Amino acid sequence: MTKIKTDLLVIGAGSGGLSVAAGAVQMGADVTLLEGHKMGGDCLNYGCVPSKALIASGKAAWGQSHAQKYGVANVAPKVDYAAAKDHVADVIAEIEPNDSVERFEGLGVRVIQEYGEFLSPTEVKAGDHIITARRIVIATGSSPLVPPIPGLENVPYLTNETLFELREQPEHLLIIGGGPIGLEMAQAHRRLGSKVTVIEGMKALGKDDPELAAIVLENLRAEGIAIEEDALAQEIRGGAGAIEVETKDGRVFKGTHLLMAVGRKANIDKLNLEAAGIERARNGIKVDSGMRTTNKKVYAIGDVAGGLQFTHVAGYHAGLIIRSALFGLPAKERTDHIPWATYTDPELAQVGLTEAQAREKHGTALEVARFHFTHNDRAIAERKTAGLIKVMVVKGRPVGASIAGYQAGELINLWALVIANRLKMSAVANMVAPYPTIGELNKRAAGAYFSPRLFENPKVKRIVGFVQRWLP
Ligand SMILES: Cc1cc2nc3c(=O)[nH]c(=O)nc-3n(C[C@H](O)[C@H](O)[C@H](O)COP(=O)(O)OP(=O)(O)OC[C@H]3O[C@@H](n4cnc5c(N)ncnc54)[C@H](O)[C@@H]3O)c2cc1C
Repeated sequence: MTKIKTDLLVIGAGSGGLSVAAGAVQMGADVTLLEGHKMGGDCLNYGCVPSKALIASGKAAWGQSHAQKYGVANVAPKVDYAAAKDHVADVIAEIEPNDSVERFEGLGVRVIQEYGEFLSPTEVKAGDHIITARRIVIATGSSPLVPPIPGLENVPYLTNETLFELREQPEHLLIIGGGPIGLEMAQAHRRLGSKVTVIEGMKALGKDDPELAAIVLENLRAEGIAIEEDALAQEIRGGAGAIEVETKDGRVFKGTHLLMAVGRKANIDKLNLEAAGIERARNGIKVDSGMRTTNKKVYAIGDVAGGLQFTHVAGYHAGLIIRSALFGLPAKERTDHIPWATYTDPELAQVGLTEAQAREKHGTALEVARFHFTHNDRAIAERKTAGLIKVMVVKGRPVGASIAGYQAGELINLWALVIANRLKMSAVANMVAPYPTIGELNKRAAGAYFSPRLFENPKVKRIVGFVQRWLP
């Protein structure tokens, strides 16, 4: 056994752990990083990166078969599913060096490629090493949650950890789970030529604003994806190439492949948390508002902390706790300014409160500014007019924004800035946006907030009439 003493021990080299390690070492701390599996974690290997790469393949195929409206003949795309997976692997390989052992060792981080396990409140065992650290960060992420549906144990199924390695094209992909991951993969596969059925126990995209989710779901259905809601999978039967899912209400769906996308579970089993006095919560590790666990020298960040599960949230947590772990400064997590997006076409994006949440919290003080994509000239030129932006405003300040439509994930950035800095709607209205851009939609939404005040206000009309009479 080797004994190592370090300032900061980071367990898990995914989005959160890598950000902490890189930041802390560059600020002069002695940092040790443990990774039991692949550097880069879920986002690089099984999540954001491969999913967005496969979506890009689907988009390319779709573009070929839907070019007529731009005056270019439609052609049936010749999809090579295995080659699309090569593209996915290639994209991962291009990004991989950023997250590699070599890069982190080059920065001065001590990287140990082993799983970590607590021995005591201050000691962690990793392979042949026992590490004592002033502060410890748990950033072990999450894994696909596979519920014990009767019969599932006898049927081959895919998760996000195996889907991107599959080389044979599913003829008919059944997806259990109609959340962002399920629907992104549904559309990518449909566009690459598979039949797709999504089986959702409640409502698809149920965490988003229903009015906006409906815009996305309508488009996905129009592309030929069967999205079955209130369809709780109760039994799974069959074998490779012929799988059946029966729902509680007796519906039976048949397909050749099955993808489980029902949710995530925190990676805590290997950690021996009890030895360190670290309590669990319902969705992961219990943390306070500064991301500290019940052992005050140990932080938990990213997916394992059980809050919003996104790469940018793990990165945000990393920034917060570096402040606290290295400088001893207080840190407090905010969640009201965190955006997220679902990369279907059209995209769906949210920051802050949805309309329903804002109405519950602010009652009659809430005003909702709305603007449709149909009025945006660039959206018309691109033939991407299915979309709506809603901004929830209280006393002139946005408290939330929800967008469904082309590039919603890009558009939401502005509202994330506005809400993070508690800016007013006037800040957006004062901006001059280049014409014709999709980004103009944001300014027009701000315009929709102000125009009733300006154009439907009798006082304004009286003042203009009065001034006009006296103007030379
Ligand atoms: C299909 C899919 C698509 C997604 N798309 C997006 C997206 O578009 N945008 C977005 O923001 N988010 C997306 N996410 C979510 C995103 O991947 C996660 O929120 C993010 O990876 C969380 O980062 P993390 O650092 O908490 O954990 P991870 O990135 O999962 O890293 C945790 C690491 O810890 C390691 N580990 C676990 N236990 C131990 C241990 N005991 N010792 C040592 N190492 C250990 C694991 O091997 C892993 O490498 C997606 C997720 C999935 C599944």
